[in-house]
Amino acid sequence: MSIPDQVIEQIRTASDIVSVIGDYVPDLKKAGRNFKCCCPFHTEKTPSFIVSPEKGIFRCFGCGVAGDVFKFVMLIENISWIESVKKLAEKNGITIKETFNEKYSVSEKTKIFELLEMTAKFYNRCLLETKSASFAREYVKQRGMTDDTIKKFMIGYAPKGKLLESAQKKGYAYDILSKAGLFTKTDFGSIFEYMSERLVFPILDIQGRVVAFGGRTLADSKAKYLNTPETIVYSKSSNLYGLYQTLPELRKSKSIIVVEGYMDVVLSQQYGVSGAVAPLGTAFTAQQAKLINRYADDVTLLFDPDDAGRTATQRALEICAENNISVKTSSLPEGVDPDEYLLENGRDSFYKLLSKNSKSAIEFVTERVLSQINIKIAQNKAKAVSILLDFVEKNKNVIVQREYVKFIAQKLDIEEDVIWQEFKRKTLFKTAIQEDKFVDKTRNKAKTSLEEKLLKFLLDINNRQYIKKLEKDFFKDGNCITIYNMLLENENISIAQILSKISDKRQEQWFSGVALVNEQINAGDGKDGNEEKSVELYEVFNILCRDIELERLKKERKILEKEVLLMTEGKIASDKEKIKKYLQLTSQIKGSGKK
Ligand SMILES: [Zn+2]
Repeated sequence: MSIPDQVIEQIRTASDIVSVIGDYVPDLKKAGRNFKCCCPFHTEKTPSFIVSPEKGIFRCFGCGVAGDVFKFVMLIENISWIESVKKLAEKNGITIKETFNEKYSVSEKTKIFELLEMTAKFYNRCLLETKSASFAREYVKQRGMTDDTIKKFMIGYAPKGKLLESAQKKGYAYDILSKAGLFTKTDFGSIFEYMSERLVFPILDIQGRVVAFGGRTLADSKAKYLNTPETIVYSKSSNLYGLYQTLPELRKSKSIIVVEGYMDVVLSQQYGVSGAVAPLGTAFTAQQAKLINRYADDVTLLFDPDDAGRTATQRALEICAENNISVKTSSLPEGVDPDEYLLENGRDSFYKLLSKNSKSAIEFVTERVLSQINIKIAQNKAKAVSILLDFVEKNKNVIVQREYVKFIAQKLDIEEDVIWQEFKRKTLFKTAIQEDKFVDKTRNKAKTSLEEKLLKFLLDINNRQYIKKLEKDFFKDGNCITIYNMLLENENISIAQILSKISDKRQEQWFSGVALVNEQINAGDGKDGNEEKSVELYEVFNILCRDIELERLKKERKILEKEVLLMTEGKIASDKEKIKKYLQLTSQIKGSGKK
């Protein structure tokens, strides 16, 4: 999978980021030293999408999306990073040679992807053409699926025994068919095709590759839904059915509706409901929640309004709460599938009903508890509070917890303070630790801004000589340390290269923000004379380092100050060493202030 770094840099240099992005976004316009347009990844009226030709990166100050030229093509074309590199190489007439080793190591995965793609097409053809699929064709028609939908989702049918025959003719051995999750051997040694005699829904990953299949039986005797098992290319907990197909609309709407089944996804999308996706035959997972969070700002869970559906909703809400993802729930009338409702009432009415029945997580959970427990009895009321506080506790954000407690207090007609005290009691130990962390984080944030300034200074290619002048452990902020280490390793690394090496989304946003922040800390600006400039640069560097040092001394002194105060008040035993250190810090701080 790896292309040599120098080839990647060659492709990067050949691909002018402004003209590449300009090809996709015609309204890209020059603005000072940068270029500006409305973000192609979210809806906006005033442009906040910045392209920096100097630094070779882009960033949206609206939605936070950022990256280098490869990342842009990857996102806009919805392809993998490697595909994006290949695409830009081709555009610029650069050939990428894969070494023998790489070919060998990816061959099995590649083969499986090819096999799964071929299988999807095969099943799809069978649904459209074969005699044995007439019942399936009838079913699909009766459910109102259009030809376009069948094509878009590659819906298929698996006639008994036909796939094995066809695949073996094409030279696929049983081994690879089994590794792809299409077949398994039964206890009696016969070969079993998972999808046999089922209506088939190919499952695509986020890059649009077929990774697995879900099958619906058309007979009553078997399990209604069956999925092919997990393989080296498929993990059911980290994919969502229908997500790839709805990506184009999702980029604009940023809104997802999670429904229960494949049929719900297919038909909802057919009737114009963008962002309809479903978990893959299992309960909703944390990875799926995170995946959704990457694409949507607005998430609605729309499960069946029966007991099973409500239990699934509750579990999904808990998972989202644990991952700090905000979701709401909604419902259709009991016994009515989304497609039935859409067919009869249309999309607008569907959305209206969804918003009318919309409930926040805490509303849903509270109503569910109140429907199960009669709180007119005092003991029951305490029990209800306890169950609800279990849910509150899953949210790690103190502000959210406070809001939820307020809501519960109103609904159960108890004083808010009483519930909050109960909550504190319940979670005393855990909360103490969390709040500490919470405070720590905000403190860090304020403190690191100076470090960020210094880092930005070092990022300027003219200032790289100062990198080695710093003590190795000078930076204390985790993000800054990561970037500083990259600079240490390669003094000539470009900002775009650094950005492409960052895999964490939050770090990527942070770094692009630091790199593009418009601060004139480069002392060369507005002054002339080369010698003067270099003197000044050195000065700026020193000031930044001193400021950081000073801030650290102040912090150290502040911690000591409390103790020293107590000592002078006679509340604790006097400690000469500490007092000495305190005075020493004080004079150090004074001294550096004078400079
Ligand atoms: Zn944006």
